[in-house]
Amino acid sequence: MPPLELSYMTATLLNKGHEAKIIDSDVEDYKNDDIYRIIKEYKPEAIIATVSLPTIYNDCSFLQEICHYSSANVIAKTSISYPPILKEILKKSSADFCIYGECDLNIDKIIGGEERKGTAFLSNGKLEIVENSIVADLDKLPLPARNLIPNEKYHYILLGDKTTTMQTSRGCPYPCSYYCAYPLVQGKKWRSRSPEHVLREIEDIVNNYQIKKILFRDATFTLNKKRTHKICDLIIQKNLKIEWWCETRVDCLDSKLMQKMRQAGCQGMNIGVETGDPEILETQAKIGMTLEKLNVIRNIAQKLGLRLHFLLMVGLPKETKKTLYETYKLICALKPESIGITIVTPYPGTQLYTEAKEKGWIKTEDWSMFDGHSPIMRTDNLSFQDLVKAQRMIYRGFSLSCRGPISWIRLRLLDYCFKRWISQERNTS
Ligand code: SF4
Repeated sequence: MPPLELSYMTATLLNKGHEAKIIDSDVEDYKNDDIYRIIKEYKPEAIIATVSLPTIYNDCSFLQEICHYSSANVIAKTSISYPPILKEILKKSSADFCIYGECDLNIDKIIGGEERKGTAFLSNGKLEIVENSIVADLDKLPLPARNLIPNEKYHYILLGDKTTTMQTSRGCPYPCSYYCAYPLVQGKKWRSRSPEHVLREIEDIVNNYQIKKILFRDATFTLNKKRTHKICDLIIQKNLKIEWWCETRVDCLDSKLMQKMRQAGCQGMNIGVETGDPEILETQAKIGMTLEKLNVIRNIAQKLGLRLHFLLMVGLPKETKKTLYETYKLICALKPESIGITIVTPYPGTQLYTEAKEKGWIKTEDWSMFDGHSPIMRTDNLSFQDLVKAQRMIYRGFSLSCRGPISWIRLRLLDYCFKRWISQERNTS
């Protein structure tokens, strides 16, 4: 997906008269040597490189290499704000400092050393963190510098080739911050761009880059239904004929809104479902959401031709083999168009991480395994093997239930295996 954060910062630098370049080594398939060559030719005064948790070790050694042969200011941009990890990044990468906050509008001052908000650095080996300042009015953001990225190379599996991303809001006020890192990164206060500002960017994408597919990367795109109606109205009025996808919660949807979204080109949505167990759902996973409401939204979506991608998790502390079976049954019954199942990861800084540390549930602090797929946290009820097995069986159940009557016998067999597994003693290893 396009590097949105870097594109915002780059746009600010260009607007303020600086020169800047974006290198997306993943999509360009650049090796480290290619990047070193570009840096040598370009001779920048500052280099900003992104560091994420599961790729932290590679990212840091790459930054360290840059520090060795470039005299530029080397800056690590990360969305992690947990102090011990910020310290680790600074030590391992030798970067001059880290940007962990929102620096879209003042990146020039940050590079120039006039501003330090939202940054962290080492002073005599001691970590100093300067408080973040969020962008309160998102309409002040510039349009991302899409002219500097290879737009035709970005792909989103649910929309296809030549898809770009947009962010129309930041922050998330929901209580699933117990396990979710999103509010840690963007705060609990929801901030949004006006529909007119959003439309300006869509028109820029369509008219200047001939891109017709957009993934809205907001945590809850439809949190304010009135705003979503207005965005859709503007897309329809301007006859933009785009195809788009978003992520939201079922308690932020209704039939009227979904009809309008479909009319405006929405192809489908990622829905945070997490579990099929009503008690876990309503008390831990998605407070405010019910399975009844999910059922209603599923039916409306089906009638409108909107595809639903369910986001599921296995391994929240209250889960048992029985509750995992509820998730399996839910998926087989509702048959969404696609699903994604992660194994619960206790992100550093969340309440879940603190609880899991205290209870000795975490197997390793090798951050490269904090990727949402590796089983790194067991619970009192479920072992590491249980989590992997449950994930596999739910995927299998989904795939068989989508194939219709032809797979009926295999689905029955899987159901039998699932029930037998529930009756077995917990494997504590
Ligand atoms: S899971 Fe979704 S709704 Fe809940 S806090 Fe995270 S981003 Fe917000």
